[in-house]
Amino acid sequence: MTRPYEDVADMFVCGKIVTMDSERRVISDGMLAIRNGIIVAAGQRDDLMKSFRCESVIGGRDAIVVPGFIDAHTHCTQCFVRGLTSGELPMIPRIYNPAQRILTPDEAAAAVRLLAAQLLRSGVTTLCEGTLNPAHEDAIVGALQEVSIRCVMARGRPDQDFHHASLYSQIRDRSWAKAREGEAEADLTRTEAFLNRFPPRGNGLIHGAVNASALLGFSPRYFIDGAKLARRFDATLQVHVSRDREEVEFCLDVWKRRPIERLFDLGVVDEHLIAVHAVLASEREIQILAQAKAGLAHSPIECVANMNAIPNLPRFRAAGIRAALGCDNQANDMFATMRAAWLIHGAKWGVASYDPEFLLAGEILEMATIEAAEVLRIDKVTGSLEIGKAADFVVLDGSAPHFMAAQNIPSELVRYGSRAEIMQTVVAGRILYDRGSYPTIDIDKLRVDAQVGASKVRDEVLDRRFRSLSHF
Ligand SMILES: [Zn+2]
Repeated sequence: MTRPYEDVADMFVCGKIVTMDSERRVISDGMLAIRNGIIVAAGQRDDLMKSFRCESVIGGRDAIVVPGFIDAHTHCTQCFVRGLTSGELPMIPRIYNPAQRILTPDEAAAAVRLLAAQLLRSGVTTLCEGTLNPAHEDAIVGALQEVSIRCVMARGRPDQDFHHASLYSQIRDRSWAKAREGEAEADLTRTEAFLNRFPPRGNGLIHGAVNASALLGFSPRYFIDGAKLARRFDATLQVHVSRDREEVEFCLDVWKRRPIERLFDLGVVDEHLIAVHAVLASEREIQILAQAKAGLAHSPIECVANMNAIPNLPRFRAAGIRAALGCDNQANDMFATMRAAWLIHGAKWGVASYDPEFLLAGEILEMATIEAAEVLRIDKVTGSLEIGKAADFVVLDGSAPHFMAAQNIPSELVRYGSRAEIMQTVVAGRILYDRGSYPTIDIDKLRVDAQVGASKVRDEVLDRRFRSLSHF
């Protein structure tokens, strides 16, 4: 007897499918069929069972299947030291930079594995890495490839010396910035090779990007030529901007312009730009980003842990700016990050104006999936569960008591969900986290490496901290 199947799949995924497609469909008794890492069908389970044959099935009637989350901003090599940063403002040059600089390439690779394990455990299938140190690049790429998590990787090396005059004792002093001759050209040549190796819009797991990390450390030449490179490759240009008071003061002193105004003057604000943080963006600067269709990477827990401001996220979105959520090494848990966004913006902008619809919980799920993919310019590949896209998804246990009376799954995932319900995290059809085990990470070795990394960075920065370790 001939079987009625028309097609073969490598994997079936069953459950309530939260597609995050353009209609934001949730298929209640749904199924995805996966072949060669790609979603080849999405629909009702009964329909797909008739037309596909498959040996491997994950999920189940009670499972909830969502697109893999996107951590839109992080730095892998900060993973060992993150616990020493809270309450230490301003701490980037004092703690983060030295703790990253002392890592050997092997230790940088271990930091990548540690971060990936934390992110996969919380349903993240794509991270966006910003790398400043060429000595770590190959190790980071190697570890990412070994783990097989998806990554938008922005590389770039600072090419500018600067002096920030901000202390009262420097009252007659001025801030200044001076490019180191020829370094922009040399480093952007490396970035060009990197973009050729890892096409930003390609189907591989690594998507290259341009890292002009900040106005202080990168020269005008770097920004101008880096933006050209980003346009040519249709890559993103990633810039920490309007991050803290020191940066705003510096820009006003040196260029008489606020940070995003300065980027505008350089001609680099367009749809390829990702403004990272932008917590101190003025209304004028929000309009500059909106008119250019630039994106925002927003890390809500980082705002509380290591910054001194919260961006006016509802204002950014009302202006038409797309926003992507990042963990930025604080929490490394997308559920915690989504919940934090819902709560801090609710308290700051919603409660304050008695506007219960200031930012809906479902919109926050968008910022962790499809909207983040749009900001990172990888939405043709990932961010939603649709035919033709990569099979990047998370299977959650929907039988947990807090989902038994679910009324609106996307909203309730943000309000009540947690990483405890995650059963599998899958990237390009490959299971990378499966109920406590990591098929691509040696977790026992990682436990040892993480301890070694943590004590090395602790020894390096302990005497630079304001507080002793016994202080909460
Ligand atoms: Zn950053």
